[in-house]
Amino acid sequence: MRPHVDTPLPDLLAAAAERRDRSSGTRVTFSPKVFLPLTRLCRDRCGYCTFATAPARLDRPYLTPDEVLAIARAGAEAGCHEALFTLGERPELRYPLAAEWLAANGFGSTVDYLVAMCALVRDETGLLPHANAGALSLDELAILRRVSASQGMMLETLRADLECHRGAPDKEPARRLATLEAAGQLGIPFTTGILVGIGDSRSDRLDALEAIAAAHARYGHVQEVIVQNFLPKDGTAMHRAPPCPEDEYLWMVAAARVLLPVDVHLQAPPNLSDDFGALLDAGIDDWGGVSPVTIDHVNPERPWPALDRLRAVTEDRGLVLAPRLTVYPAFALDPARWLDPAMRFPVLVRSDAEGLGRDLDPWTSGGEEPPPLITPGRLPARPARPRGAVVEVLDGVLDGQVPGTDEIVSLFGARGPEVRAVADVADELRRQAVGEVVTFVANRNINYTNICTFKCRFCAFSKGPLSLNLRGDPYLLGVDEISRRVAEAEEMGATEVCLQGGIHPDFDGEYYLEVIRAVRAASPTIHIHGFTALEVTEGARRLSEPLDSYLRRLMDAGLKTLPGTAAEILDDEVRAVLCPDKITTDEWLHAHRTAHSVGLRSNVTIMFGAVEQPVHWARHLVRTRDLQAETGGFTEFVPLPFVHMATPIFLQRRSRRGPTFREALLMTAVGRIAYHGFIPNIQVSWVKMGASGAAQLLESGANDLGGTLIDENISRAAGASHGQMMDEAAFSTIVAGLSGGRRLEQRTTLYGRVPAPA
Ligand code: SF4
Repeated sequence: MRPHVDTPLPDLLAAAAERRDRSSGTRVTFSPKVFLPLTRLCRDRCGYCTFATAPARLDRPYLTPDEVLAIARAGAEAGCHEALFTLGERPELRYPLAAEWLAANGFGSTVDYLVAMCALVRDETGLLPHANAGALSLDELAILRRVSASQGMMLETLRADLECHRGAPDKEPARRLATLEAAGQLGIPFTTGILVGIGDSRSDRLDALEAIAAAHARYGHVQEVIVQNFLPKDGTAMHRAPPCPEDEYLWMVAAARVLLPVDVHLQAPPNLSDDFGALLDAGIDDWGGVSPVTIDHVNPERPWPALDRLRAVTEDRGLVLAPRLTVYPAFALDPARWLDPAMRFPVLVRSDAEGLGRDLDPWTSGGEEPPPLITPGRLPARPARPRGAVVEVLDGVLDGQVPGTDEIVSLFGARGPEVRAVADVADELRRQAVGEVVTFVANRNINYTNICTFKCRFCAFSKGPLSLNLRGDPYLLGVDEISRRVAEAEEMGATEVCLQGGIHPDFDGEYYLEVIRAVRAASPTIHIHGFTALEVTEGARRLSEPLDSYLRRLMDAGLKTLPGTAAEILDDEVRAVLCPDKITTDEWLHAHRTAHSVGLRSNVTIMFGAVEQPVHWARHLVRTRDLQAETGGFTEFVPLPFVHMATPIFLQRRSRRGPTFREALLMTAVGRIAYHGFIPNIQVSWVKMGASGAAQLLESGANDLGGTLIDENISRAAGASHGQMMDEAAFSTIVAGLSGGRRLEQRTTLYGRVPAPA
C-alpha cells in the first residue's frame, strides 16, 4: 500500500516494523561478502560518485585475474559466501585505454570480462558471484546468469531530469526499468533500490518503489530493495549538497516496507548511518553485504561495522542476525526456476537447511574442525531477551503445550540467542525427564555385509551389483566370524551387539535368523539389537511371511530390540531424492508399530542435513511421536547428522555438506522438546559430532552417549574422522567437563543399569 506523503514518521515507523515482524519475524540477514571492484572506470559521470575515477589514477583499467583471485581467496578464507562484483558502466565506450586492455586480453566488452571473472571466482574459490554491472541488455543479463547466483542494479530514481545524472546516459530511467524487466523475464534473482536525497521528492521515490513492485508482481524476481541515503563526498559535483536528513531517510525506509510486497526483503546499509540501529525500527530485515576483508569501495570513507557490533545492535532490539547467500532462500530453495544449472551446486553447498548461508564456522559433521561454542554457560549472556515466534513456542512448551509441526519449524529457525534459549529449555526438560545421569552402553557394531541391492544415494557404505559403488571392497562375514566377534566383544565387556548391514541379493529372511543363532552360539546373554525396518521388511517379504510372524521368530531366536535406522527422513518427498527404492515412510512406521506390537522395542533415528528442510524434520518428529503415543515402544531418539564427504549424493553435487553445528545442536534440543513426555532419552552420535560437539549436545537436551561402538564402519565409510571406539574413560572426560553435577553411568540397551564391576 502506498503511504500518503504526509504520513507522520512515528506512524510509518510503527506500521513498517509491524509488517517486518509479521513477515520476517526476528530474523535480520546479512551477506558475508568480499567486494571486487573489477573496474573503477565508468562512462557515466554521476554527481555523487567517488567510485568512478580517471584512468590516470589507476595502474591499469581493470583488476587482473590474479588480483581478482587474491581478493576472492582472502574472502573465502574469512568465511564469506558472496563475491560482489561492482564496476563502472561500459568504460570501454569512453576510455580507449579500457577498450585496448580488453582487446589485448581477449575480451570484447567489460561484461565479457566480468563473465570470465565470475566463472573464475566461482570455480576457484566457491564464492557465489553477484554481478552489479548496471543497465544491461537482455543478452548481457543472460550470459551473466550462467556464472552468477544473483544480479543487481539500483534503479535509483525515475526522474530523468536530475542534475546529478546529467552526464550519465546509463541512469536514464527507461533503460534501468528495461533492465529490471529483462531480469524478470530471465528469472534472475534481482536486487534493486533507490537513492534518497539526490534531488527528487518523496512522491518521486514512492513512484520508483511502485515501479519495482509492479515488475515484481509480473515476475516475482525482486529479492530485495536497497534504500540508500545520499551523503556528500569530497571530490564530487555534489560535495556541497546537504546530506539526506536522517528523518527523511527513515521515512523512506519505512515507506518502502509498507509499500513493497512482504516477499521483497528490505535492506539499508549499516555503514552509511551513525545510528544504524534506527534502521531496524524502520522495518528493514537485511543489512546487505558486510565484508570482513575489503572496504566499501563505493563509500570508502564509511567502513562497515564489525560483525560483533552489528550483532550486538541487532540483538539489543530482540532481533537475531543470520548469514545469507547472495541469493535469498526463496530463490535458493527453488533452483530449477531461479538458477542456471551451473550455479545450483555452488549455491546448494553453501546453503543450510533453510536456504540461508551456512554459519561462518567451518564445522561439518564427521570432520576435523572444532564446533563453535553455543550452549548455555559457555558464552557470556547478552542483555536483551529474544522475542518472537521461538520464544512464544518455548513459553508454550514450559506451560505444558505439545508443539505441532509449525511450532517445531519455528524452533528449528532459531538463531543467535534464540538457539541458546531453545537449548536452555531442552536442558531443563532433560533434567525433569531423566535427571543428571549421562548414560552409555558398551556395545559392538557388527556390519555383517556391505553388499546391498539398494541404491540409497547418501550411503557410502554399500557395495554391490546395483548400489552406487565408490570405494572399498565388498565383504560378507561368515557366521563363524560373527560368533568370533561376539565372543571378543563380550570379553571386552560389551553388553550389546548391534547388527546391521546391506541387503545382500542372496539373503532371504532365514539369513537374519542364522545371524542371531551365530550370536547366541557365542553368548547366551548378550543383548541382540539388530536389523533395521528395511531388513525385517525385506526378510519377511522374501519369505512371503507376515511381518509380525517373522518378527516373532526373530524374537524367539534371541532378537531383543530393533535399531531405528533406515528412517533417514520420514517424509516421502525427501525419500524420493535420498533413497527412492527403499521402504516408504508408512512402511518404516508399520515395521516399528508391528515390532512394538509383538514386544520388540526400538528407537527413532533421523539422518539430517543432506537435502531436506526444517518442515521435513518437523514432520518426522511428529509422525514418530504419534506412533510413540500409540505404542510406547521407542526407547530413545538418535539424531544422526549426515556425513557428506564420500557419499554418492554429495559427489554427484546434489546434497549439502551435512548440517551446520547449530542445526545439529537444534536437532538434539528440539527433539528433546518435541518428544517431552513421550520419549525419555535423547542420544548423541559422538562418531559424527566429535567429543567437544557431543559435550555441547549433552547440555542441550541429550542424556545418552550411545555405544562404545567397537568397529563403526558406516560413518567412516562416509568420511567421518572420529574414531572407531570410545571407552568409559573417554566418555568420563566428556561428562567431567559438563556443568551441573552430571555423572556417567553404564546402561543396558533398555536403559537398565549395569552394575560396576566388583
Ligand atoms: S543405506 Fe542400507 S539399504 Fe541403503 S544402500 Fe546403504 S546399506 Fe543398502
